[in-house]
Amino acid sequence: MSLAAVARPVRRVLVPATVALAPPPLGAGVHEFSGHTMGTTWSVRLVASVTLSREPVLRAIQGALDEVVDQMSTWQPHSDLVRFNRAAPATWHRLPEAFFEVLACARHVARRSGGAFDPTTGALVDAWGFGPAARQGVPDDAGRRVVLERAGWQRLELDPARRAARQAGGLALDLSAIAKGFGVDRVARRLAALGLDSHLVEVGGELRGSGVKPDGRPWWVQLEHPDAAADPAPTLLALHDRSVATSGDYRRWFEHDGARYSHTIDPRDGRPIRHGVASVTVIHPECMLADAWSTALNVLGPEAGPALANRLGLAARFLVRSGTLFEERTSMAFDDLLQ
Ligand code: AMP
Ligand code: MG
Repeated sequence: MSLAAVARPVRRVLVPATVALAPPPLGAGVHEFSGHTMGTTWSVRLVASVTLSREPVLRAIQGALDEVVDQMSTWQPHSDLVRFNRAAPATWHRLPEAFFEVLACARHVARRSGGAFDPTTGALVDAWGFGPAARQGVPDDAGRRVVLERAGWQRLELDPARRAARQAGGLALDLSAIAKGFGVDRVARRLAALGLDSHLVEVGGELRGSGVKPDGRPWWVQLEHPDAAADPAPTLLALHDRSVATSGDYRRWFEHDGARYSHTIDPRDGRPIRHGVASVTVIHPECMLADAWSTALNVLGPEAGPALANRLGLAARFLVRSGTLFEERTSMAFDDLLQ
């Protein structure tokens, strides 16, 4: 782990060691697509013949994302997730393949992060006004205890053979910290299946890149910063067979009695995090894991977060608020990407 100086005069570049530049396809151009999903926007840039028929590609992308929403949204009253959340106690439910895959991954990250990431925080998220239930503000201690008792990833039993999950009673799933990343992976897989191997996929700021552009260069992206205009050293990443996701306290928050409450909740005490981490960015081959781990490390905070990232070999960058500036902490795997 390194503790870099706050002000850096230069731009930095991150390049995965495995970067392999294939020759650009002849007669190809970059096509751009965009749309709405999961309460945010998506965009795709891909390399294909200039004569590409765009309509089927647009349908494939939007279809892949609509399925994620239909299955995993907390905001869609008829999603499979909402149905699970409302199910009677002590009942098993067979889940669609994608929903089960995301839930299994979420539970894996929950275990490895010691519960800092928890897919059962739905009632807590609602209690703090960040969910579909229309209330905003600070819940009283009694209210917080009630919803805290309903949560707990250990209460979530999965049966992989039957692709089923058990509603223990009152469990409220929330996959908002992982579903965007999964959506990105899913779109990337659909594009590859259509033979469109060179693409940059983005959903709500989470990104995955593959292949190269027609000029033979990789997809370059700039790492998200809580205050982009004040970023002293914009960091560019060659997104070659890699994903990048950021969890930040500036994405959704409210202020109450002069205190700032972020939408990232520490499931261990049921309160929004308040250790000063403004954002955590994770680079990983799978966007689903980049997304989940950026949230998990954000909850763990400025000391335990980088320590776990180093133990697990995760490439992560933490920006910790220091007055009006940000102190950067990076994991060893992140430093290895720096050129
Ligand atoms: P992200 O922007 O990916 O960090 O996701 C934040 C969203 O995930 C919040 O709006 C909540 O819906 C949900 N969430 C909040 N805290 C947690 C947590 N500790 N573990 C899993 N999901 C969370
Ligand atoms: Mg996340």
